[in-house]
Amino acid sequence: MNSKLKSAILTTFLVSAALSASSEIASARDRIKVVSSFSILSDFVQRVGGDHVDVVTIVGVDGDAHVYEPKPEDAKSMAAAQLVVVNGLAFEGWLDRLVESSGYKGPLVKASAGIKPNKINNGHDHDNDDEKHNNQAEGATKAVHDHGEFDPHAWQSAPNAQVYVKNIANALCEIDKSRCPDFRANAEGYSKDLASLHDTIKTTIGSIPKNRRTVITSHDAFGYFSSTYGIKFLAPESVSTASEASAKDVARLIKQIRKRKATALFVENISDPRLIEQISKETGLKIGGALYSDALSAKNGPAPTYIDMMQHNTSLLSKAMVKP
Ligand SMILES: [Zn+2]
Repeated sequence: MNSKLKSAILTTFLVSAALSASSEIASARDRIKVVSSFSILSDFVQRVGGDHVDVVTIVGVDGDAHVYEPKPEDAKSMAAAQLVVVNGLAFEGWLDRLVESSGYKGPLVKASAGIKPNKINNGHDHDNDDEKHNNQAEGATKAVHDHGEFDPHAWQSAPNAQVYVKNIANALCEIDKSRCPDFRANAEGYSKDLASLHDTIKTTIGSIPKNRRTVITSHDAFGYFSSTYGIKFLAPESVSTASEASAKDVARLIKQIRKRKATALFVENISDPRLIEQISKETGLKIGGALYSDALSAKNGPAPTYIDMMQHNTSLLSKAMVKP
């Protein structure tokens, strides 16, 4: 090797070493401070933002974001944030108060913007004319307890998660154009993973006979999973955990379980399991495990990331629905 080439290689090495050192220092200092409302969103923000973001999560793992009471440190985190990412669709009923009390004036991104929202299914079957009148009257009362017209659990479908990710990339690009190519590249890579996740879920659920695909969960968190992947979910509680199921709700559910020959019951990581345990006793249906509905698990649990969560839920559901 001639000396000119040697020195060129050395120079290249030194320059790139200096560049990477300076970018490390810069990223520690210049990480974009993002506050996200719940753990599933935080995973999306982290995937897209990579090393360029510091993410603070308000409702953490196994937490119930429907009924959360913000704490003083949440207002502090929000006041220091450069970007706040929330689900939208009236999921975070406590959000407006928190934004106001924190004095936060920066961008607030609704990650679900642009998805096609499902209207709230108030948990009733409307395929039996005898029950129809009662159901409609009770459905109207139930809707008053809920905070919106639409089902907020849009992340329970992988194509919707791709929309969330795109919205988050756009928001980060608005904040820092110089790092936008990284955000776009991360979002695209992750979106490909979501596409293959979607295919896997479709294939897995699609292989189960349709008459085996009715299951019960604690609250109506799986409407989008249902419409995307073709499982019928019934639940004693509506799309919000804020209103408890009445004795009447439970009695009606037990009737539906028998009529529709439901195959399994599931508890949820964010909900008290006792109601589902009671229904299990009354119907003789087995509990198929805990589904992750509105929050991820801790790192050592079965659902520390969104993709893990969807795979875990799919595997539990399919195991329980397959004929024993
Ligand atoms: Zn929920």
